[in-house]
Amino acid sequence: MDHEAAKMRVRELSELLERYNYEYYVQDNPSVDDFTYDTLMHELAGLEREHPDLLSPQSPTQRVGGLASSTFEKVSHAVQMQSLQDVFGFEQVGSFVARVHEEYPDAQFSVEPKIDGLSVSLEYRDGVLTLGSTRGDGFTGEDVTANLKTVRSIPMTLKATLPLVEARGEVYMPRESFLRLVAQQEENDEQPFKNPRNAAAGSLRQKNSKVTASRKLDIFIFNLQRCEGREFATHDETLQFLEEMGFRVIPNRRLCRTTEEIVDAINAIGSSRGDLPYDIDGVVIKVNDLSQRDNMGATAKTPKWAVAYKFPPEEKETILREIEVNVGRTGALTPVAVFDPILLAGTSVSRAVLHNQDFITEKDIRLGDKLVVRKAGYIIPEVLKSASHAENSVPYRLPECCPVCGARAVRDEEEAVLRCPNISCPAQLHKQLVHFASRDAMNIDGLGPMIITALLEAGFVKDAGDLYAMTKAQLLTLEGFKDKSADNLLAAIEKSKSAPLDRVIFALGIRNIGAKAASLLCAHFGSLDAIENADTAQIAEIEGFGEVMAQSLWTALHDSSVQALLEKLKAAGLTMPYEKLEAATDTPFSGKTVVLTGTLNMKRNDAKKLLEAAGAKVSGSVSKKTDYVIAGEDAGSKLTKAQELGVTVLSETEMLDMLKA
Ligand code: NAD
Repeated sequence: MDHEAAKMRVRELSELLERYNYEYYVQDNPSVDDFTYDTLMHELAGLEREHPDLLSPQSPTQRVGGLASSTFEKVSHAVQMQSLQDVFGFEQVGSFVARVHEEYPDAQFSVEPKIDGLSVSLEYRDGVLTLGSTRGDGFTGEDVTANLKTVRSIPMTLKATLPLVEARGEVYMPRESFLRLVAQQEENDEQPFKNPRNAAAGSLRQKNSKVTASRKLDIFIFNLQRCEGREFATHDETLQFLEEMGFRVIPNRRLCRTTEEIVDAINAIGSSRGDLPYDIDGVVIKVNDLSQRDNMGATAKTPKWAVAYKFPPEEKETILREIEVNVGRTGALTPVAVFDPILLAGTSVSRAVLHNQDFITEKDIRLGDKLVVRKAGYIIPEVLKSASHAENSVPYRLPECCPVCGARAVRDEEEAVLRCPNISCPAQLHKQLVHFASRDAMNIDGLGPMIITALLEAGFVKDAGDLYAMTKAQLLTLEGFKDKSADNLLAAIEKSKSAPLDRVIFALGIRNIGAKAASLLCAHFGSLDAIENADTAQIAEIEGFGEVMAQSLWTALHDSSVQALLEKLKAAGLTMPYEKLEAATDTPFSGKTVVLTGTLNMKRNDAKKLLEAAGAKVSGSVSKKTDYVIAGEDAGSKLTKAQELGVTVLSETEMLDMLKA
């Protein structure tokens, strides 16, 4: 690659990796899997090696990706909490071993599972836990002592009273706790964590320790950072000491000398992966002798005496038995592959979404195929390809009719999705009611999918408006309802009558109109009448709206069934209040200096107007005086500067939540 092209690619990769770091470390919500991230990081490192003048100290290859958020007190680490150099194949493991043996022919290596969690430091003074912190950027972390004290296996006092002991370990969420948490989040219509690692990080960095305690985190200790009062010659001795002190120390470790022994240990750890009750994402190989380690030293980001062998994403073959077609809230027909169960990353998997007809056609997926399925650290499995077709198989076509109500499905010209056009389709109705009652919509506590099924089956509701006419006597005829539960549900339904207008609009479940769009719409028009009277051009003028959204909203609001529903809701006593944001003096943004960066979902100008209405001063550059930086996609140097200065960084959603509060 010539120098100019390399320069552009380096910039592009750096920005992309910064964004991924932010999503992963700050938001605990990655948008790509680790393998993709690691591949991009390797590409960047390769380009920087080829073109050394393009290497900047700010490059993601040179810095530990984390960040200490302002939610917690900051902690300076006495011993830097470094990351690890990763290697992907046994050949690279061999090169590392050869490099070490060249200098220290007798070197031994500790080979340990790499726990997929987040790194913490635990400091004990006179045998008592005094400080627990996250890694942050390696130099400065967050004081999460109170939260770490909820992790049962962390000793509050050590078995011996030494002046100072600092241990480093990996906090993780056992797989069972993770699956329970995700099920709970889905039930509550919350965005579920994508993997146990992000769930552990999100749980440890909670303001309320009770929430952390409920998440059932655990820890493995893998390093002694500092110790006063005892001397050690090897890593292995330090781990034995830590065990004696009462710590839960990294299990299944082996001392090895040769590459062959190390490869055997990696294979042994790899094959036990699925049986472990927690996730591991690789194996760490560390020089055992502490004086050899000291001599080898470190780069700015990683020690030179250790590497992390990363497991490639697990892929398995299985047979496709059936393609199930689900009907969504807006009638979208989604094909789901049902295959023979396989064990992937420790969980049994038998289903994966096939998205739409185009996806199926492109991969030529047919019933009876041998499929290749993978799960790259995410809970959501994906079909990579069809490895082979069964004899006499034919290309698969989605059914022409809705599998639930039989209506003929339609495909919008510009969309890949097939839809059931029947708005009374029972499958759509069920999902619409679930959406209507959900937390961000009408927030009707206790009205979950199962109760909705029962209400539909009993014929008590045919649309959301009927919920408000339901009686206690009706509820008591349903299985599982008692006096108190019926009263509670009716009270929750009653309470929802005062839900603000933006929530009611969101609750209608209009295509392309999410919670943010509903909120912008209300901020612009202020009342339901004004919204209903607006034409598509006026709606499209709203910052953050486009033609498609405007058209979708207008069409829905002028549909006779939606109009009838709105009338029914008004007649039931829904007040749909909405207060327009005036230049306020008591919002979280009043008097604050705010900088917008990156690509936001809404137009910049619109965000600016909202912030100004909330009393903020919107500035173009980040300085020490900046109170908040709102970072959208592809945020670059302003985000980096904010991170360096310790300015609070908010996502667009967080900003909108604060504006709503
Ligand atoms: P890392 O996770 O690759 O390795 C370093 C960490 O391993 C240490 O901080 C330590 O906490 C942990 N560890 C676990 N067991 C250990 C053991 N036995 N001995 C020593 N350390 C052990 O590096 P990182 O800097 O924490 O994170 C970078 C990785 O995170 C990337 O390689 C990528 O896989 C992932 N990541 C993904 C995204 C994304 O968007 N998907 C974004 C950022 C980072």
